Amino acid sequence: MEYPFTKIDVQILKLLEDTIRTIPDHPVKGIQFKDITPLLKNRDTLEITKRLLARPLRPLQADYIVGLESRGFLFGTSLAQDLHAGFIPVRKPNKLPAETISVTYQLEYGSDSVEMHKDAIEIGSRVIIHDDLIATGGTAAAATTLVKKLGGVVVGYSFILEIEALEGLNNLEKGVPVYSLLKV
Ligand code: AMP
Repeated sequence: MEYPFTKIDVQILKLLEDTIRTIPDHPVKGIQFKDITPLLKNRDTLEITKRLLARPLRPLQADYIVGLESRGFLFGTSLAQDLHAGFIPVRKPNKLPAETISVTYQLEYGSDSVEMHKDAIEIGSRVIIHDDLIATGGTAAAATTLVKKLGGVVVGYSFILEIEALEGLNNLEKGVPVYSLLKV
């Protein structure tokens, strides 16, 4: 998160970091999977995470939070409610029922496509892209392409966790603020 942290924030963030567990070799060998389910299970870390995610996003005056399937949905809708914005899902292929646009991208493991409803975004809408984690940045970059194709403006990115070594931020829209609560 690129804004000053208080001493208490730093202690709270350490607690959140300790709550996220690493599962080696999931879903494939060599991947250190960051599992946020313990953070979701605990009522205090659940609430604190939402509050800390929302705090730097308020000034961005977003019209929409775009949440990335599937763990981007977990905080995406509550963040949208907090910011008095709408929520738009970006989903894996063939999940959305109405007419969609689609982009193919590279994952840390494999490749995939993502889709968004064609009528999801009005031209000039201010959009924040949210996911639980940024690794290579491929998914968030694909979501950026979808938003821009529909005439939206990406005004911020929000993640719980950033895997710094993979330099995913390089794949995001230049000059747009990125708020990652934790960096590993
Ligand atoms: P990427 O497109 O490489 O930035 O990958 C981000 C997406 O893949 C997010 O939706 C994450 O939930 C998931 N992901 C990638 N790597 C990991 C990891 N090491 N642990 C947990 N989720 C991951």
